[in-house]
Amino acid sequence: MTTPPSVWRPRNKARPCAITGCHRRRRHTSKFCRPHERRVYLYGHHAGRYISKQDIASYRRKLSSFLDRYAETPQVTTALGVVEELLRSPSSHASNASSRLSALVSDGVSARDVLEVAGAVWMYSWSRRGALPDDARLTYQLGYSVLSLRPLPQRARHRPAPWGQPTETVKTITPGGPARRAVGEFLRTRLGIFYTRVIEALAAESKLVTARQEDERQTLAAAFETVNGYVERTSKHAD
Ligand SMILES: [Zn+2]
Repeated sequence: MTTPPSVWRPRNKARPCAITGCHRRRRHTSKFCRPHERRVYLYGHHAGRYISKQDIASYRRKLSSFLDRYAETPQVTTALGVVEELLRSPSSHASNASSRLSALVSDGVSARDVLEVAGAVWMYSWSRRGALPDDARLTYQLGYSVLSLRPLPQRARHRPAPWGQPTETVKTITPGGPARRAVGEFLRTRLGIFYTRVIEALAAESKLVTARQEDERQTLAAAFETVNGYVERTSKHAD
């Protein structure tokens, strides 16, 4: 016989959060407390954290320059086509995020913007292994970074005050977990291999630059050989 919810729910709420070291009580049917459950909802993991536009800005610039240089390649044009598909019919590819995606398109967000920002997240997770260490966190971050390509909508909240003026606060409506996941999963499934190749190409390019600079350094560091008494003449002149 299974225990009825009226019995196990209060029992669950009385237990501590499943995270080692967290002494808060669990929330409803969750195995986590409220703050940890919220992190799972927003970031895909109880230890997930907010990663801002500034955190990924330098990677976006690198990716943008890469996409300019390789703009004519079939890889880049096909990748842009995949993103167009997501933006044109969001309800069939990421139904949980369709209204947010449609709003971005009306706001002027292009396939190139999405390709850049998702690639920037991919590069960020690749170069900082500890920042997005698992698939879930990478997925949610891809979704969040794309869905926040334009300023997030805000809602005014009026708080009646028992005395004095009622206060008004503004709350940002952040994209929910299911919307983040839907967009992130689409991008990972359809463009994962593309981003892997982009990162490989960037690494190869930077190796070439390093090799060229090393050649240059060796050339510049070599001692001059005396040519037709040139050294004697200049030393006389110096006297
Ligand atoms: Zn907790």
